[in-house]
Amino acid sequence: MEQEYKILNNGVKMPVLGLGVYKSGSDTKQAVKAALAAGYRHIDTAALYQNEDLVGEAIRESGIPREEIFITTKLWNDDMKNGTQMEAFENSLKRLGTDYVDLYLIHWPVSEALEQSWKVLEQIYREGRARAIGVSNCHMQHLMRVLAAATVVPAVNQVESHPYLNQKPLKTFCNNLSIAMEAWSPLGRGKVLDDPLIASLSASYNKTPAQIVLRWEIQNNWIVIPKSVHKARIEENAAVFDFELSREDMERMDGLNRDMHFGTDPDHFETRQW
Ligand code: NAD
Repeated sequence: MEQEYKILNNGVKMPVLGLGVYKSGSDTKQAVKAALAAGYRHIDTAALYQNEDLVGEAIRESGIPREEIFITTKLWNDDMKNGTQMEAFENSLKRLGTDYVDLYLIHWPVSEALEQSWKVLEQIYREGRARAIGVSNCHMQHLMRVLAAATVVPAVNQVESHPYLNQKPLKTFCNNLSIAMEAWSPLGRGKVLDDPLIASLSASYNKTPAQIVLRWEIQNNWIVIPKSVHKARIEENAAVFDFELSREDMERMDGLNRDMHFGTDPDHFETRQW
């Protein structure tokens, strides 16, 4: 697989395609190994997913040098509320079995601890234990708060995005601040793949619906982290660098937006039980 990279606002190179491992459970290790064998060099995990240890084991057993693989993990909400951000980061490093991560994200913008947590991420960054730091699930009002307290501008904002939630205003806002956009649930958890337009593009490009969706996102300058634990789908999701959607078809895909969340909306996450 030919890999493509995005240069983050601090010069770090981030592969535009990664493997997501939310809810991959005990399949995580073989999924990460299958992804690395298929050419992925970017894995997206989180303390919440309880599989950082399996991600670390898979990477070590792959024999691929650590520095060739881009690892993202995330600071969980409880550690923001409890003031245990630094301990949480160190525990993530221990579970991953590495002494640095490539990208460390605030998982959700927990209101009572947002600025304070960003300061801890800045310290981790200054210490060289995260090559880049960023946020997740931040709408404009959350980002304004982070930026007002920041000396380091977040490198990435990872938010839900797929054809039914293309996040255009937020993306424009972030792009103007040189914050890269990363899409979680880039396949809409599989629920957008039966869309008639995507099916018709799949037929005309001779690519699968998942490949059409990922290609559209990559051409729109998103970093994508589709999840699968199945080797065939992991390989399928990576075969998106050998074709291009036309401008007309990109616009048709843009037209599918309906501001629909399949996951939690950051404006309402504080009442959700995980
Ligand atoms: P996704 O959009 O990647 O969908 C995954 C599902 O789509 C799979 O479970 C499978 O059912 C289906 N699928 C995958 N490949 C397919 C293919 N080729 N053909 C048909 N169906 C296919 O959804 P996701 O897992 O929610 O998101 C991806 C990753 O994003 C997660 O694993 C996680 O790493 C990250 N994430 C982050 C947050 C956050 O708050 N930051 C939230 C959710 C997910």
